[in-house]
Amino acid sequence: MAQYTPMMQQYLKIKAEQKDAFLFFRLGDFYEMFFEDATKASQELEITLTSRDGGSNDRIPMCGVPYHSAENYIKQLVEKGYKVAICEQVEDPKSAKGVVKREVVQLITPGTVMEGSMLDEKENNFLASLSAFEDGTFAVSYNDLSTGENSVALITGGFDAALGELYSRPVKEVVVSSEFNEEHQEMLKERLGYTVSFEDETEVDEAFKSLVEDVHQEKLLVGFGRLLQYIQRTQKRTLDHLQPVKVVELKQYMTLDMYSKRNLELVETLRKGGKSGSLLSVIDKTITSMGARMLKKWMERPLLTPSAIKTRHEQVEGFLDQFMERETLRDQLTSVYDLERLAGRVAYGNVNARDLIQLRNSLRKIPEILTTLKQFQHPSIHELYEKIDPLQEVKELLETSIADDPPMTIKEGGLIQDGFNDQLDEYRDASRNGKQWIAGLEQKERQATGIKSLKIGYNRVFGYYIEVTKANLRYLPEGTYERKQTLTNAERFITPELKEKESIILEAQEKSVDLEYQLFLEVRDQVKAYVQQLQHLADQISRIDVLQGFAQVAESNSYVRPTYDTDRIIDIKQGRHPVVEQVLKGETFVPNDIYMNEETDVLLITGPNMSGKSTYMRQLALTAIMGQMGCFVPCEEASLPIFDQIFTRIGAADDLVSGQSTFMVEMLEANHALSHATENSMILLDEIGRGTSTYDGMALAQAIVEHIHEHIRAKTLFSTHYHELTSLEEDLKRLKNVHVRAEEYEGNVVFLHQIKDGPADESYGIHVAKLADLPVTLIDRATSLLEHLENNNAKTEVAASLSDEEQLSLFVEEPKTEKKEAPSGENELEKHLESLNLLEMTPMDAMNELYQLQKRI
Ligand code: ADP
Repeated sequence: MAQYTPMMQQYLKIKAEQKDAFLFFRLGDFYEMFFEDATKASQELEITLTSRDGGSNDRIPMCGVPYHSAENYIKQLVEKGYKVAICEQVEDPKSAKGVVKREVVQLITPGTVMEGSMLDEKENNFLASLSAFEDGTFAVSYNDLSTGENSVALITGGFDAALGELYSRPVKEVVVSSEFNEEHQEMLKERLGYTVSFEDETEVDEAFKSLVEDVHQEKLLVGFGRLLQYIQRTQKRTLDHLQPVKVVELKQYMTLDMYSKRNLELVETLRKGGKSGSLLSVIDKTITSMGARMLKKWMERPLLTPSAIKTRHEQVEGFLDQFMERETLRDQLTSVYDLERLAGRVAYGNVNARDLIQLRNSLRKIPEILTTLKQFQHPSIHELYEKIDPLQEVKELLETSIADDPPMTIKEGGLIQDGFNDQLDEYRDASRNGKQWIAGLEQKERQATGIKSLKIGYNRVFGYYIEVTKANLRYLPEGTYERKQTLTNAERFITPELKEKESIILEAQEKSVDLEYQLFLEVRDQVKAYVQQLQHLADQISRIDVLQGFAQVAESNSYVRPTYDTDRIIDIKQGRHPVVEQVLKGETFVPNDIYMNEETDVLLITGPNMSGKSTYMRQLALTAIMGQMGCFVPCEEASLPIFDQIFTRIGAADDLVSGQSTFMVEMLEANHALSHATENSMILLDEIGRGTSTYDGMALAQAIVEHIHEHIRAKTLFSTHYHELTSLEEDLKRLKNVHVRAEEYEGNVVFLHQIKDGPADESYGIHVAKLADLPVTLIDRATSLLEHLENNNAKTEVAASLSDEEQLSLFVEEPKTEKKEAPSGENELEKHLESLNLLEMTPMDAMNELYQLQKRI
């Protein structure tokens, strides 16, 4: 250490406290980075790496970014999941003895960014903390610094359930104890892509005690305490906008595990990961960004309480009834800015005058919105109306104080209106009068000297001056003018009188800028006193926005209000898949009924590939979720039970738990459903067992169906290509066969996408291959192989020969991945044939495969 210059020593001392962050070290007009930070930042930000002498033998790697454009660089780093520590000079360099004192004034992390440009308008930006307890429970806490909201919940279903809770929520960073299970840390980082940060303190400071008044469980206090400690440590400023913690009872909401959230493509699609094509993208007709954020929250937590669901549905109905008024309301909402984040910034202290103008404009709209709401007849809308406090006193304050078109900066004046403050008006008068006097002086001097080109100008160095061209110098009277500056063609002069006026103007300007800043802070503090009311108003407006959006989408997509009964009957008439029906556009989506009475727990769905089985299954889950969110549903009529949980094993198993085989993933997901589902849950299992050999797969599929039927009784849709399973209907009385209808037309298969009672009669795989234009010779050969295999009908026997215990043990214990040895070469062939993905092969690949197959007979 001693080898370094005093400044480098200071740097190293500060850096030692900020090991996991880039340290932006303020040096004049730059933030500099040194050593490893410099090497890494120069790569990540693509900026030049230089070096500097720091006292030691080797030069020190260095790179820097200009102070004024730092935000953009910070943004890039934070978006990549890094943290940035801002280290400023905290004393005036002029008065400093030795090295200027520097301190870290803020730690910017992915979960604590406040700057508008780093936030997604339509999404919350959550910082979460996860605290593990010995009994296997977890406390999960959330904070959104930009809106001030806080919540905490207890998770009882182990780490899996914690992942399910966090998954797909807009969480950017998770704070854990330094002793948090390392494997779990890895999962958070690698699988969910979160920045993981550490905090061991969990005590809630006295100053924040009021936030946790409603929290009575020790574990929740620990969980939220950790989060709060981390926020205090990184932000280093007052945090007046934090709202009291909401204790979320997870049991009051429908639980969707990680797999279901993903498989059902609620907020993003599986394959592309984008928002378009998700359920959210179809039903989001909100106007404001706060509304969009609330909609997402509602989607993450569908309701279970019938009365709460009913309230939302009634309000949607109210908005739906009156198209004209709804149009007016939608139009008015477009002028409402993000009140929630504006309120957050007012309290956080990083609001500028333009933000306050946005706030004023939004508040101006509220009375109009109230007038519109009043025109809706439905009593449920009246209730919404009654809850709104339009906060016109805040609007009036802003209307009289803040200038109409203020600058971005708050330290250069132009913020405050005339007439708001007498002193300020006086300063402004003085400066205006002075300027007028100077304008008059030009005229006067021209006349006195007869020099027409004489002019008065101003620059920062010399202030006001009189400028006369060299040719005219001789007309100037002696004595009155003092020479100040010589240019090529002109001379500049001053007079005592000019200087006197100048100092009046400049002093008045300086004083008025200072005063404006003070006044601005005062106004800001006055607004700050209303932060809670503003947050409340924001909440009401968001709610109205989401509900009008539901009405809008119900109208444009012909959704209906579902009814709820306690009798476990699903009765959907002409149901549709909300996303697929939008994607199909030109072609028409074929609606289907879904009926499961009290005595039907399992629908076993058979039918060819690509016929619409998984679409049918998903549409049931999406309909249930939409309904319990408060949205109307895509069908002609729906009567539904309230589902406590939805489990899915659907769609392409993929790398979510990478390093595992497809089959293993499939079993993990199935196991998750089997161990948590209740008779009030919904389970969707799509082609279970596809990932392993035929015998294993079919045996497992059968055992799983039997287990659900006997022990869980959750409403289950089970699609399979094991036609043999359809015979289960004979033994399992609450299982019903349905199939997707396909017809053969001139030797080809035509999908009708219609669901009919009873099992499907034939396998159409080969017809699909034909549709894909595989060579005729190959198709013929496959047809004859199939006939051969079908005659060799050993499959059912094997499945049936498994005893009950064997079936159960398959999933009660850890699922095993080893495959059984196939008894003969013929079955090898069968397995191989089965494993081919004909649809994705080129004709050439297919010929090669066929050749290989032939060699093996
Ligand atoms: P499966 O699960 O039987 O293999 P999918 O459910 O994936 O089949 O459906 C395959 C395709 O068929 C879908 O991408 C969709 O375009 C179309 N499809 C499915 N159901 C319908 C329907 N009810 N009406 C119209 N097209 C449908």
